[in-house]
Amino acid sequence: MEVPPSSLSVAAPVQAPVADVPATGAACLNCGAPLGAAYCGACGQRSVDLGESTWQTIREAFSDAFDLDGRVLRTVRALKTPGQLTLEFVRGRRMPYVGPLKIFLFAGAALTTTWILTRGIDMHYYGFTLKGSSSQYIDNVVRGSLTGCVAVGFGSWVLTRGRRRLLDEMVFALHVVAALLLLVAAVVWLGTAWKLIWGTAAAVPSGVPALPFLLYLPSLVPGLAYVAAADRRVHGGAWWVAIPRVLIFTTLALAVIWAVLFMSPA
Ligand SMILES: [Zn+2]
Repeated sequence: MEVPPSSLSVAAPVQAPVADVPATGAACLNCGAPLGAAYCGACGQRSVDLGESTWQTIREAFSDAFDLDGRVLRTVRALKTPGQLTLEFVRGRRMPYVGPLKIFLFAGAALTTTWILTRGIDMHYYGFTLKGSSSQYIDNVVRGSLTGCVAVGFGSWVLTRGRRRLLDEMVFALHVVAALLLLVAAVVWLGTAWKLIWGTAAAVPSGVPALPFLLYLPSLVPGLAYVAAADRRVHGGAWWVAIPRVLIFTTLALAVIWAVLFMSPA
């Protein structure tokens, strides 16, 4: 567990709610070290009171399962400010957030769940019958987004001529791709709401543009703006440098993803 040096951090460090400090002389039930605080200084386990109420134990189990101490939510909220999470990570403020790989996996799971929940409506709207299994779709999300991460990280590292370590660029890529996966999930939900309003594509009045022109293509603008703002926050420099740089490495990433998903031997 990394603890940020409090003397260096400007903002107050975010901490888990502190339980009662145990009586002196108590020992950690996990490792046996003497307890001086609500959390064991040797292994990090919370001071466990075996006499605590059933309700307390159930609450503890749920907050453990769903991360109700808010790290996932706080991480998603931090993602809304482009580049912020990456800067926090490279500056060593890691405790309040879940790690880059975990938030990336969370975003991938959110997009996959979105697709599974909405595809019935999608099929009905376009009059398609089900083709392709969920596992094939999950396979595509995983392979596509991982390829995208490697391409964005490496592309950004080359284009900024190694201003930051390659490892930091991979963290940047995981954060950016996670944000894009969440954006795609949000766009899919918007599209699904639109499909629910009309029922089928045939029911949409002829003057109204089709969904790709109404929603999917326009959403590229906030997507690219996000990546450019994140790039600029992490690497510094002027907008007129960041924007072409982002256009180059996103084009590169899309080309590599395309190659991996559609040109590999089936
Ligand atoms: Zn301990």
